[in-house]
Amino acid sequence: MTDTTAAEEVSAVVARARAAQPAWAALTVAERVRRMKPVKDRVLDRAEAIAKVVCEEVGKPAVEALLGEALPSADVVQYWTRAIEELLEPEDLELDALAYPGKDATLEREARGVVAVIMPWNFPVALPLRTIVPALLAGNAVVFKPSEVTPKSGAFVAELFAGIVPDGVLGLVQGGGDVGGALCGADVDLVVFTGSVATGRKVAHACAEKLVPSSLELGGKDAAIVLADANLERAANGVVWGAMMNAGQNCASIERVYVEKEIAEEFTEKVRDVVKSLRAGVDFGPLATTAQRAIVARHVAEAKEAGATIVTGGAGEADDAAAEPSRDYAPTVVRVKDDETPLMRDETFGPVLPIAVVDGVDEAIRRANASRYGLTASLWTKDRKRALVLARKLRAGVVTINNHGFTGALPEAPWSGHGETGWGITGSTLALDTLTRPRFVLADRSRGARELWWYPYTPALTAVATAMATLRSSTRGLFARIGALFRLVGAMLARARGG
Ligand code: NAD
Repeated sequence: MTDTTAAEEVSAVVARARAAQPAWAALTVAERVRRMKPVKDRVLDRAEAIAKVVCEEVGKPAVEALLGEALPSADVVQYWTRAIEELLEPEDLELDALAYPGKDATLEREARGVVAVIMPWNFPVALPLRTIVPALLAGNAVVFKPSEVTPKSGAFVAELFAGIVPDGVLGLVQGGGDVGGALCGADVDLVVFTGSVATGRKVAHACAEKLVPSSLELGGKDAAIVLADANLERAANGVVWGAMMNAGQNCASIERVYVEKEIAEEFTEKVRDVVKSLRAGVDFGPLATTAQRAIVARHVAEAKEAGATIVTGGAGEADDAAAEPSRDYAPTVVRVKDDETPLMRDETFGPVLPIAVVDGVDEAIRRANASRYGLTASLWTKDRKRALVLARKLRAGVVTINNHGFTGALPEAPWSGHGETGWGITGSTLALDTLTRPRFVLADRSRGARELWWYPYTPALTAVATAMATLRSSTRGLFARIGALFRLVGAMLARARGG
């Protein structure tokens, strides 16, 4: 289904999901796994078709659609269908036997209910699946809203589950901001949102109004730091891929490079050569929308005005003046003087790699961290030990050493960020903290008439409780503890006599 959903129809889709969810959650986890395993084969069988739809809608190269959308999605299904049973297994918790005798405590994870999944256009298949798959396996119903730019990819995602999950368990609503807004305002238990900061704020407000939890994965302005001892060949190839993949329309794109001055010239030359070797239509495509291209062109123009120099690429004047708005923008490398322009501060989301020269690693880290975003960052150096120390100084949810950005495709790896990148965590077992809620169950085997702390409140009760606390947690040493033990026995006898 690719037609826009009327805003009034959104609550009906949510109601159907709510009605279907309890029976789905009542199945054993093993049964949900059994039913959902075939989704993986569907993804693989339809991989080329998925790639084709994505290419049509957002113009990314076929290889990227296959490697970045279809194949990692099969891995996501494989990971969660393997891991989820153990992860949802109730966990026995150990309580202090002296203070809480005869009590069995268990921590369970319960589905949240109906999860709204609102997604952007830049990875229209892989991004929704990395939440929809674990959300469903955990027993939730999902109502999915793809971006209005990628309705066909969205419909394709929903179709992967047709006949596999019961009717209503996965609902699809199509449309733009009004439909997304209606979904946030509907009877949902959680909103998982990926998109821009501006929309993320609106989603956060809508959720706060209803006290519904939200997971927000927003923008980035990710930095790569290239140190003087880096393997420059690898650094140049890796940084260019990290910046230009998906025409730079990637939340984890490298949007700033800080390079140590000793190697700045050599690195820049290598980067220029790699960028010049990229082939239009094969290695890179156009931007997804003309609006996106306009932002990219503006950022580069403003940086130029502020003294930046184009190393390669940039919009030709003819492109900018063309009557028909174009989506094309050549992969571009810019040498910048400082971090004051939007090109170094705001999310560009395009095939532009700004390079800034730094005196040393401290300056690089300071400038990398001085961003209101904090999604991913990378360090390029041969000194692994030093890099591991430096990694802890970076304000980013994901830090990679001699690599960049690809971990978003790893189902084992958490994806999260600082500041305006938002407060979502997708990927990894940590995602389950969002997609489920804890239920703590305590079963008491005691046959006594009353607990120590029940009525009546007496001096003996306080004495027992204080002695127990001292025994449990005093750091005063052995004699203090022995004293507490004697006081405890005495107080317990007094309490037993009704004192
Ligand atoms: P966007 O914010 O314009 O739209 C995202 C989704 O929100 C779309 O489905 C849109 O229809 C919907 N929407 C719009 N208004 C809404 C409202 N008022 N209430 C609810 N939903 C509403 O973002 P985009 O342009 O589609 O995507 C690009 C952005 O996504 C970039 O900023 C990028 O960094 C970010 N992104 C982040 C991650 C991450 O993991 N952190 C991953 C991919 C993309």
